[in-house]
Amino acid sequence: MIIQMKKESTKKQFDKVVEFLKEKHLEIIDASSDEMRVFGVIGDTSSIDPTDLYAFEGVKEVTRVSTPFKKASRSFKKHDTIIKLKNGVEIGGDQFVMMAGPCSIESEEQLRTIAKGVKKAGAQLLRGGAYKPRTSPYAFQGLEVEGLKLLKKIGDEEGLLVVTEIPSADLIPLFEEYVDIIQVGARNMQNFHLLKALGKSNKPILLKRGLSATIEEWLMSAEYIMAGGNDQIILCERGIRTFEKYTRNTLDISAVLAVKELSHLPVIIDPSHAAGRWTMIEKLSLASLAVGAHGLIVEVHQDPEHAMSDGAQSLKIKKFATMMDELEKVAAVLGKTLR
Ligand code: PEP
Ligand code: MN
Repeated sequence: MIIQMKKESTKKQFDKVVEFLKEKHLEIIDASSDEMRVFGVIGDTSSIDPTDLYAFEGVKEVTRVSTPFKKASRSFKKHDTIIKLKNGVEIGGDQFVMMAGPCSIESEEQLRTIAKGVKKAGAQLLRGGAYKPRTSPYAFQGLEVEGLKLLKKIGDEEGLLVVTEIPSADLIPLFEEYVDIIQVGARNMQNFHLLKALGKSNKPILLKRGLSATIEEWLMSAEYIMAGGNDQIILCERGIRTFEKYTRNTLDISAVLAVKELSHLPVIIDPSHAAGRWTMIEKLSLASLAVGAHGLIVEVHQDPEHAMSDGAQSLKIKKFATMMDELEKVAAVLGKTLR
């Protein structure tokens, strides 16, 4: 961190800031000249919010030079984190991991049909919402615990691991019993109480990027979970809100590259919630593979026209299978395994 004092600031004001930082066991390197009073702060500055230093009189500019996240950062851990799941599935390495299934679990029959289809096409994980975060309180809210049980039952039957979204911290024990990966939805990315509680879980966490979250805020949310002791985190870019209305959200494909520079954590893409249109899913999926994402989470439905949620962005089972064939071709060129 570099702190520049105002030209008219006094030695007393400067000393006050230095004293505050030294109390936090930080080292000060004075680089002042006759022209300006400026100094560097060395040590673990993660507990300091740079903007708080503007409370001190005489402070002109505070510049952070290191990232505010530690455990999630590339400088903390040079090698990529690889999350090892059952059935030999690994996220973060050379395997391009496919998670697919309905937006919402609607019935046993529906989930089984989709599970069989995505398994046959080569997916490793079955997705399906049991607790649905809907914009309207009158829209279908999910089958809740019944949905979790169906997900586990059908996942076991078909040899698929399962991932689903958790709405609140009190349900962690239930989710630990039924799922392989616990998903934190975009709307909950900054539910710090939930993140802290998940830090105590031994389950891998799929952390979606918030609707309007910066990459730094997203990685700070990962840091919350890691600070609690759980370092099994998979980041998921799912599109961000911009001025553009044609697509549901704007897929920030460069976020994959940014995250890979800044962090060692694996990162996957959800093209379904990004585009909001099934016609775009295949091409965005190919782009995700090409850009270096570690996998995808895609919505698939046996009858999208009658889906209880997100039918417009759901692929039919057949279309998912042909998309897998296209992905296979690109994966082979890139030296990645798909199925
Ligand atoms: C979902 O995956 O079903 C979902 C609601 O996604 P998001 O949290 O990204 O909106
Ligand atoms: Mn959905």
